[in-house]
Amino acid sequence: MCGIVGYLGRETAQAPLIDGLRRLEYRGYDSAGIAFHEGSKFSMARETGRVNNLAESVQKKCSPASLGIAHTRWATHGAVTVSNTHPHLSYDDKFVLVHNGVIENFGALKRFLSDKGIDFASETDSEVLCNLIAFHYSELPEGENRFVDAVRQALPQCRGAYGIAVLCLDYPDTMIGARRGSPLVVGLGDEANFIASDASAFVGRAKEAVFLNDGELAVLQANDFRITTLEGQEATAVTHPVDEVSEEVELGDFDSYMEKEIYEQPMALQNTLLGRFGDDGTTSKLGGLEGHEDELRNLDRIIFVACGTARHACMVGEYLIERLARVPVEVEHASEFRYRNSPKAGKSLVIAVSQSGETLDTLEAVREAKTKGLLTLGITNVVGSSLARETDGGVYQRVGPEIGVASTKAFSSQACLCAMLGLALGRMRDLSPMDGQSIVEALKGLPDLVSEVLQKGEQIRELAIKYSKAEHLLFLGRQSLYPVALEGALKLKEISYAHAEGYPAAELKHGPIALINPDCPSVFIVEGNELSAKTIANMQEVKARKGPVLAIAPDGIEIPEEAADDVFRLPDAHEVVRPILANLPLQLFAYHFARLRGLDVDKPRNLAKSVTVE
Ligand code: GLU
Repeated sequence: MCGIVGYLGRETAQAPLIDGLRRLEYRGYDSAGIAFHEGSKFSMARETGRVNNLAESVQKKCSPASLGIAHTRWATHGAVTVSNTHPHLSYDDKFVLVHNGVIENFGALKRFLSDKGIDFASETDSEVLCNLIAFHYSELPEGENRFVDAVRQALPQCRGAYGIAVLCLDYPDTMIGARRGSPLVVGLGDEANFIASDASAFVGRAKEAVFLNDGELAVLQANDFRITTLEGQEATAVTHPVDEVSEEVELGDFDSYMEKEIYEQPMALQNTLLGRFGDDGTTSKLGGLEGHEDELRNLDRIIFVACGTARHACMVGEYLIERLARVPVEVEHASEFRYRNSPKAGKSLVIAVSQSGETLDTLEAVREAKTKGLLTLGITNVVGSSLARETDGGVYQRVGPEIGVASTKAFSSQACLCAMLGLALGRMRDLSPMDGQSIVEALKGLPDLVSEVLQKGEQIRELAIKYSKAEHLLFLGRQSLYPVALEGALKLKEISYAHAEGYPAAELKHGPIALINPDCPSVFIVEGNELSAKTIANMQEVKARKGPVLAIAPDGIEIPEEAADDVFRLPDAHEVVRPILANLPLQLFAYHFARLRGLDVDKPRNLAKSVTVE
């Protein structure tokens, strides 16, 4: 969500900043802007819409300069207009600032500044911070530290979350960045330094990255950098090679990242699984859990905290872990958990799941759990992310960057890791070696089964053509396929804007059946076990009310002709991998459905990839 890039060095800042913004586009945004330090003034260009619009207007409005900051905005305060687009210029034209996050007390700060006669040009909370820095600066005596001191005085007055980059006209060779709650990383290059929301913004230009911690501030020159706390104490800068933290992402022959990432899943899952099984072939071996074996063996409860698609993967985990390890599992919306006074029942483990590792609600839920003294584990895809750094242990997904806003391969790997966790916990408790072995074999065979399903992509495209006129759809499944129904509905909503709802199949009669008519198709995800007969009965109830039915069913389950209009077949497979397989046709269904409507699946309206505000 929102992207920040700042550059200072020998080159003109234009190319590194525009390239950086392009690489951050996947995070989701609605407007973009840039400001350059031109010696005696700042030149600025700001546009609503795409970075391409901005690139054109930069050519017209700005001259070459070697210090600049840029931003893609995902509006939280104030409409999507040019005047609300970042960077914001202070009332005295001395500062420009880009901000990611929300300043919760911006109203009070704005009143304080207005009372001093300061005018505002936008409706944003971010401009308030820019003016607050300018105000403190105006009150400080001249001197080397005046810029950084003004920033240090302003930030503690702000409540809420921020990642910022700021420039001051009197300091033509300095850029300051600071964070609390929103990610920020410093990039160190050859006589050039960067600040960005994530390291992909400076891949190929910077060699090393330093992730700022909450409450830290970075002062950068082209050849130098210094990281301190807000109070001014030196902080340790741990450097990571940029190649390790971010990879170049090419689209190849695919026309969208979503499609590419769907078809990447066999390889992605191969990487998730690689080297993660015990030598005796009966359990999984997750390095990030090492050192916590005793706590895990004696757990009374697991609480998953996550948002969106990651939460659906956790719900799959709930069914699998309870079945394999016999530990009670709850899945909470991270945003609910963080404000709830959940009773501390016995020895609880909190597992936080977030692809980006920067989802603010999930991070805050982890912080709340730690305050209560609970053990926390993270499942994330991004090495060095806040989630990876703040939890007591955890597991990386290893599926490579996920750029498509609609999460696909991340869901599969998160569900796969939940199954592996269930296996590891089960084997520490009462799961037999024989059962363990059959699960290990099922997991090892998963990438091939995923390939097999994806090869039938054309069949799904035809089904999407048939159903793409529908404006309302239901997705129904039982047990571990219920979260798959939720995820199928979410995916369709996110990228096609059709209305879709997911329910447990048996809930149909308790309400949603009222929606059934010839224009409202139902997608049933049928189990490969004794419950399938019950789901088929639900399908017949829909057919009896003239509702179209599309069934996603394993090969071994017979679907009577009168129960479904269409059947998409999945290979028969072990229960631990069924949810992942069943979700694949639903990803493709949503993808084709949206494409047939002429929509850009990588840039769904209003959505951001990584939600770093509350
Ligand atoms: N709250 C700020 C605004 O609405 C920043 C939003 C963002 O993170 O892009 O302008």
